[in-house]
Amino acid sequence: QAIQLRDYTPPAFLIDKVDLTFELDETQTRVISRLVLHRNPAHPDARAALCLDGRELELESVKLDGEVLDGSRYALDAESLTIAAMPDNAILEIVTLIHPETNTSLNGLYRSGANFYSQCEAEGFRKITYYLDRPDVMARFTTTVVADKQKWPVLLSNGNKVGEGQLDKSRHWVKWVDPFKKPAYLFALVAGKLSKLADKYTTGSGREVALEIFVEPADLDKCDHAMESVKKSMRWDEQRYGLEYDLDTYMIVAVGDFNMGAMENKGLNIFNTKYVLARPDTATDVDFDGIEAVIAHEYFHNWTGNRVTCRDWFQLSLKEGLTVFRDQEFSADMGSASVQRIEAVRTLRTHQFAEDAGPMAHPVRPESYIEINNFYTVTIYEKGAEVVRMYQTLLGREGFRRGMDLYFKRHDGQAVTCDDFRAAMADANGYDFSQFARWYSQAGTPVLSVRARYDASAQTYTLEVAQSCPATPGQSEKLPFHIPLALGLVGPDGADLPLQLAGENEAQGTQRVLSVKEASQTFTFVNVPVEPVPSLLRNFSAPVKLDFPYSRAQLVHLLAHDSDAFCRWEASQTLMLEDLQDLIDAARQGQPLALKDDFVAAMRQVLANEALDPALVALMLTLPAETYLADQQAEIDPDAIRAGRDAMRLGLARALRSELKASYLRLQDDSAYRFEAEAVARRSLKNVCLGYLTELDEPALLELAEQQYAKANNMTDAQAALAGLVNWAEGDAVLDAFAKKWAHEALVMDKWFTLQALSRRLGNVQQIKALMQHPAFAITNPNKVRSLIGAFVHNNLAGFHAADGSGYSFIADTILTIDKLNPQVAARLAGSFNRWKKMEAGRRAAMQAQLERLAAQVGLSRDVYEIVSKNLQ
Ligand code: ZN
Repeated sequence: QAIQLRDYTPPAFLIDKVDLTFELDETQTRVISRLVLHRNPAHPDARAALCLDGRELELESVKLDGEVLDGSRYALDAESLTIAAMPDNAILEIVTLIHPETNTSLNGLYRSGANFYSQCEAEGFRKITYYLDRPDVMARFTTTVVADKQKWPVLLSNGNKVGEGQLDKSRHWVKWVDPFKKPAYLFALVAGKLSKLADKYTTGSGREVALEIFVEPADLDKCDHAMESVKKSMRWDEQRYGLEYDLDTYMIVAVGDFNMGAMENKGLNIFNTKYVLARPDTATDVDFDGIEAVIAHEYFHNWTGNRVTCRDWFQLSLKEGLTVFRDQEFSADMGSASVQRIEAVRTLRTHQFAEDAGPMAHPVRPESYIEINNFYTVTIYEKGAEVVRMYQTLLGREGFRRGMDLYFKRHDGQAVTCDDFRAAMADANGYDFSQFARWYSQAGTPVLSVRARYDASAQTYTLEVAQSCPATPGQSEKLPFHIPLALGLVGPDGADLPLQLAGENEAQGTQRVLSVKEASQTFTFVNVPVEPVPSLLRNFSAPVKLDFPYSRAQLVHLLAHDSDAFCRWEASQTLMLEDLQDLIDAARQGQPLALKDDFVAAMRQVLANEALDPALVALMLTLPAETYLADQQAEIDPDAIRAGRDAMRLGLARALRSELKASYLRLQDDSAYRFEAEAVARRSLKNVCLGYLTELDEPALLELAEQQYAKANNMTDAQAALAGLVNWAEGDAVLDAFAKKWAHEALVMDKWFTLQALSRRLGNVQQIKALMQHPAFAITNPNKVRSLIGAFVHNNLAGFHAADGSGYSFIADTILTIDKLNPQVAARLAGSFNRWKKMEAGRRAAMQAQLERLAAQVGLSRDVYEIVSKNLQ
């Protein structure tokens, strides 16, 4: 049942040209497909049958070179249409009926409201018509859409609009031609009543591009930020990589029912509304930031994904890891680079390290899968981006650019592999990336252990570096990785020391990237006049866990002085984690929970340091997520984690009450909302302070939050105020007012659901079930499921893992319900079991029982089956 990378064979046929006609209607859609095919000389069998992929299709007719084929000439099953006797060149005309109006999977062509939208990556096109639905089959597409003009006035597909007209009294048609060859997963179709925001952009070489964003009419006032983001992305890709847009029109469509964030269909990106719509009063700073990043991401795919695509889905990170890296670099240039980097590392550690340590662990290039949709993971995306970043760290920015240039020169218009990318980087720079290949094939998070020795008389500082990587499913032994270790040595005065390795004639800078390639290796620095504090893994130069026996004094020193913002933040986190662990252990043993003085003093200093970027201060004061703390335990006790973490928040709030309040007041800003790095930074710190203050059971402090809510001119401040209030009974009135005010804004109601799902007071199964009955909730809408149920099971550790096991039976029931509607969304929820083996015994048994119950269901989707069965292995 599993598909294996090693089984890859080229397709038996290639498709040169596809002509599609869609006749859209309320109760069925007819798809007429005309394929021009030829036999692929690269296929080993010169007489191989043509086997087209197709699912849930009603076949009306097949014609081969003009002749209607009767049932004896082809074979049909649930997954395919096979024609054994095929000439080497052929024209195939296939007519199918599909039912987008009842398609709740949001995969293929589906209806949302009264409009039609498509989602074809990875294998949705086969739900539209019989086709060679694999990315190494690239064809030129022409698409004609026919539909009632009143009901579906806007008809969109890929490429350029070449004609339109009236067909009969009620129906009109529009014809689109995409001049670029593309795989079927990049096909898109949209039809409906949509409003358009139009703008234009002139590329560096002077080509005019029409920019168009299509949304529901009521949302037209929320598209400006998305449009600005498109223009910034286009400019940035020209400046950084010399890459220009290649069609006359760039269209974005926003839809409220969407499985993922967005999709890079050629010339016609389709987005979740969450990543398009923003107005200061409806969207937070985090949303504005997310929109800018996702718009950039999908735009950047036009080169990294579309012009150069993947040979097969095992290579998914070729486009996703690279494109995430590109959008991260873009965001770094748009705002604060260090804040952006720290946030990326937080995401990686919280989610990807967890994936690497669980039953779904897989390499950046997986070796097998049951359902490809389960592999749109943080490993493919975020760890993949780290792997790409390591090339740049090793080669420098210019060297990386040389590699990119060669990659496009060699592979434009092709479907290629991660090895092709690696070869381009190597060949363009004469650099040996052969050992580096292990980053693609070995799963698991490597551990980098460093030990230091200072020899005062010899004035040498020696680092002993050892690496290891834990076993993961199917991979018990790991070979050493090629790890870039960026570092500096911080002197007692806080300044970086010059770095001279033994054997070098002179010092070379104050920051270096060492190539760690062996299981253990020694680096000796000479002419080191005083014992330094090592600042290791600067800017998080590799996706590894660093193990260095820092003393508390050393951490305080780095926290105060390190020139690398990431390491500075890291020092505060390490200190914090150490104390959190003590608190968790104390909670487990029923001992008193007290904070350590040096930690409180360090946090006080951070807060008082007005020279620091407020956004960095905010991040330093932010505790790691409960789930991240869970992943540090040998055995997870959710109640102890909750108690320990709450104790730290409350302890800091008590100890720093007056400083927090002073900072909160100092950071007030009554001016109009602007999404600008400085304003965002101030709001983030202000709201972190408010979060701490509302931990204290003091009416005057809760009033601060109520006032902030009442006078907020933006959603960032409103949501932050509400987040502080929901843990108290005082929050109920505000929650009600919020729901009344925003009843008709779906994305704002998502926030309302999430706030409750994550609340200490309200985040329990009873309440979640009650909220599922709320009129704004819909089990068929992925954003709703994610914002309420997803938030609860993935981000509310103590709530979901209630000792009575109620969370587990609830989620198993919900998975079964949703699996019938939308397997992709159900499978994501099934990921909430991934930590089960590490839970304390009682919860472990309860989770196992629910997993076994799920596994025993007949008719489970492939998506959920894969997650459940890998959990039970
Ligand atoms: Zn992507």
